[in-house]
Amino acid sequence: MNNYKNILLAIEFSEHDEAITKKAKDLAEQLKAQLHIIHVLDNIPMPDTPYGTVISLDESTHDALLEAEKSKLRHIGNHLGIAPSQCWMVWGNPQEEIIQLAVKLQIDLIVVGSHSRHGLAVLMGSTAKDILYHAQCDVLAIHLKST
Ligand code: AMP
Repeated sequence: MNNYKNILLAIEFSEHDEAITKKAKDLAEQLKAQLHIIHVLDNIPMPDTPYGTVISLDESTHDALLEAEKSKLRHIGNHLGIAPSQCWMVWGNPQEEIIQLAVKLQIDLIVVGSHSRHGLAVLMGSTAKDILYHAQCDVLAIHLKST
């Protein structure tokens, strides 16, 4: 396990974030790896500006909705001691964007949360499962307890 040098933690902004952020931080510290975090914006429209579809937190923006999302990510990044340049917000489909950013940053381990699913929900799939199937690097799925 000690060959992981670049870890990408996917954060969805939910009550489960704390459980996975703590494990990812502990792991990165043990392995002396770089930790990046990503949140994919799949619920706010992309502003008509030149930001592009990927922005890191050290870029300034002027959109209120985007600023609110950036502030949540900044809070998590500060809590984890991660530099703004390693905190990423991307517009699009979470599984696709997480996998693409992992390739771009030469990530060797993606950390995601994984909810237990029962009944019909099993058929709907999950972000964690899609990333596990399609990522080009290893994936650590942290089991999230239902609340
Ligand atoms: P799921 O099992 O589909 O509910 O996926 C949960 C996990 O997928 C979360 O704990 C995150 O690691 C990741 N995830 C889901 N949505 C997003 C998002 N919009 N941005 C970043 N990561 C996400």
